[in-house]
Amino acid sequence: DAAINRIAAGEVVERPASAVKELVENAIDAGATRIEVAIADGGKTLIRVIDDGCGIPAGDLPLALSRHATSKIDGSDLLAINSFGFRGEALPSLGAVGRLTITSRARGQDAAMIRVEGGHAQPVRPAALQSGTTVELTDLFYATPARLKFLKSDRAETQAIADVVKRLAMAEPFVTVILRDVSGGGDGRVTFRADARTGDMFKALHGRLETVLGKDFAANALKIDAEREGFHLTGYAALPTFSRGSAVMQYLFVNGRPVRDKLLIGALRGAYMDFLSRDRHPAACLFIDCDPQLVDVNVHPAKSEVRFRNAGSVRGLIVSGLRHALAEAGH
Ligand code: ADP
Ligand code: MG
Repeated sequence: DAAINRIAAGEVVERPASAVKELVENAIDAGATRIEVAIADGGKTLIRVIDDGCGIPAGDLPLALSRHATSKIDGSDLLAINSFGFRGEALPSLGAVGRLTITSRARGQDAAMIRVEGGHAQPVRPAALQSGTTVELTDLFYATPARLKFLKSDRAETQAIADVVKRLAMAEPFVTVILRDVSGGGDGRVTFRADARTGDMFKALHGRLETVLGKDFAANALKIDAEREGFHLTGYAALPTFSRGSAVMQYLFVNGRPVRDKLLIGALRGAYMDFLSRDRHPAACLFIDCDPQLVDVNVHPAKSEVRFRNAGSVRGLIVSGLRHALAEAGH
């Protein structure tokens, strides 16, 4: 069983950044208003995610670690399963590839903790914690040295983690998100900080754009708000002059979750086709929201690719929505 868990875990946890993604998504799902991520040595020796969300009742801690156990779908919700991708995989996977400690306190209850090593959970013990959940993952891939060898330098893994954290922060402008590098021990240093924004969605997102992509970018960004055949497109797109030699400034989300999807990237390129040479990548932060039944996020456990029921509408929506905004801005 431990071996099966370890193999399946490799699908979910490819590198430290994938562990960070799963843990921060859990914190978001728990309704956290403040999420602090601490990493050491590119996340290889330590990843800690502290949230102030709803917490996990002590009695549910072992359950949270068992494969396919999720509190996020109930039996009546069969159709929605698709929209949630691979459910109940993250914590058991993390427990199979590293040393995992979850400390949590559900509202009105006592704090408790559980520790897992090599897929084997120890009994739940009492713990001290004010509120929310703290998940600590140490010595990632210690049991699978072959995987460890495939990781990049600490610097590159740190970079990948920062990218994941920024993307999730962009998707959640009402949440405070902090990334700290504690490689040297102690409190380390804060490498990214985005304080919770207020106001309506556009105002909050615009504030987030300032934090993540810079004041200049935000000041020149074009507001996007369009709809077609059940798909809603919102966000901000940059003027062609803000394009880059790579896709680093493309933030794409489907139903609130970051994706890196060929169809969406292609549509974005298509919208700017007349203004950019082929080696330039337009910058934009775009959210596509739709009924979960119109999109399959189950293509891969890491959930970065999606499949739309009606790809043509989505492409058309992005191209026309962006072209319209560009035309209004004089392009
Ligand atoms: P999933 O997120 O797909 O449900 P996970 O393995 O990531 O599966 O988590 C399992 C369960 O543990 C979640 O459904 C949730 O009930 C609980 N959980 C995990 N992380 C947190 C957290 N930070 N705060 C509250 N509950 C959590
Ligand atoms: Mg999860």
